[in-house]
Amino acid sequence: MAQDTRKPSTSTQSTHSGTGGDYSFRCKDAGHNDCSWEAHGHSEDEVLRKVEPHARERHHIQNFDEHTRNKVRGAIRRAAA
Ligand SMILES: [Zn+2]
Repeated sequence: MAQDTRKPSTSTQSTHSGTGGDYSFRCKDAGHNDCSWEAHGHSEDEVLRKVEPHARERHHIQNFDEHTRNKVRGAIRRAAA
């Protein structure tokens, strides 16, 4: 638990205004219990595009194939409006 203290300040980069979108994804929900990363977007695809580089860089998932996408989609939640 004392391992993941140095995380890059990627959370400061916001592409659009506000916190972002109806859809959210938490890495925890995909099974990475020690990762507090999460993404938001206005659509599943938008979230998926953010998840892909994160998965590659942080979790060394090189082949982001259909199976992985489906797993991520299954973990994406839609916020109640
Ligand atoms: Zn993660």
